[in-house]
Amino acid sequence: MIRTLAVTAALALSATAAAAQPAPPNFPGQAEFRDLYKELIETNTTVSAGSCTTAAQEMAARLKAAGYADGDLQLLIPPNRPKDGNLIAVLHGADPKAKAILLLAHIDVVEAKREDWERDPFKLVEEKGYFYARGASDDKAMAASFTDAMIRYKKEGFKPRRDIKLALTCGEETPDTFNGAHWLMTTHRSDMEAAFALNEGAGGRLQGDARVYLGIQAGEKVYQDYTLEVTNPGGHSSRPIRDNAIYHLAGGLSKIGLYDFPAHLNEATRLHFERMSPILGGQMGADMKAALAQPTPAAAVTSIARDPGYNSMMRTTCVATMVNAGHALNALPQRATANVNCRILPGEAPEAVMAQLAKVMDDPAIHIKLAGEKSPVSPPPSLSPNMPERP
Ligand SMILES: [Zn+2]
Repeated sequence: MIRTLAVTAALALSATAAAAQPAPPNFPGQAEFRDLYKELIETNTTVSAGSCTTAAQEMAARLKAAGYADGDLQLLIPPNRPKDGNLIAVLHGADPKAKAILLLAHIDVVEAKREDWERDPFKLVEEKGYFYARGASDDKAMAASFTDAMIRYKKEGFKPRRDIKLALTCGEETPDTFNGAHWLMTTHRSDMEAAFALNEGAGGRLQGDARVYLGIQAGEKVYQDYTLEVTNPGGHSSRPIRDNAIYHLAGGLSKIGLYDFPAHLNEATRLHFERMSPILGGQMGADMKAALAQPTPAAAVTSIARDPGYNSMMRTTCVATMVNAGHALNALPQRATANVNCRILPGEAPEAVMAQLAKVMDDPAIHIKLAGEKSPVSPPPSLSPNMPERP
């Protein structure tokens, strides 16, 4: 989820603060699922050294073995990007007029350096009921569950009313390089068309081992990077002056670090707080209830915002993620740059966020520009009309 678009709002669907459940006994097909999940995890799909095409081929082979016809499986490899393959599969429904359900999961993963990991990131390790590996959650758990479900449906002879489509996509974590879901929507739109899609994002919460809630995502923040740059004539470090590229940049970044964008509770966030307040109870529950008042009380927002997850649900956030400055140990820096990564609330524009960052830094020496592709403005979530109709 490192580069995944963040969740804005989740609706508490089913929430019981149940005591920790013991590990379930083996269920039919568990070993087969485990085998599929392991294969997907242990197929490196990073953009640098991996191959989504290999992973897509592996999943296609499993679907074919389960009985899918060749015509219902499409391995789609973009021209000039042989390792960024995607897979679309379809289980035909009984009603040709009913629009499909799309199961959408990405199979690429974020880079993982062996030296940064306690365990090999490309080996599936299970310890005390938890899986450890790159992509174990994001998003290969979902991709494996969807593929496994498609295999089970076929084997059981299940005939849904609607078509059920599966799209395993590449490039979700590196959309500035290649965005598989976007490419499929551009080049194979009819194969992706659906009444609604199930995708990663909302997640759930545990308290200790107790299950608190499972969310449904109704809206989404957008991802945007900004480059900050300061240049300077430089000079010898034995004769320093105060006008220093690193100091300008550090000063600006420190101000961003202390700044909070205004909190804005949209329809989905408000419903989330309303439903979660009695489930969570305690101070957080009380704060969520208080936050529903109009206008939103600042004290409640401040208190809720101590939780980084809830803070990011209420406001646009920006954070410095990389810096690069100077060119020699004994020279005054001629250039200092930084990346600031923002997750922008629905309804807010990337240009407006950039203008606000410039205002917060208040230093004309720091030049700021959009990095990578400009994100679109995410539509504000509106709950009732967009929730899927009942099957
Ligand atoms: Zn993801």
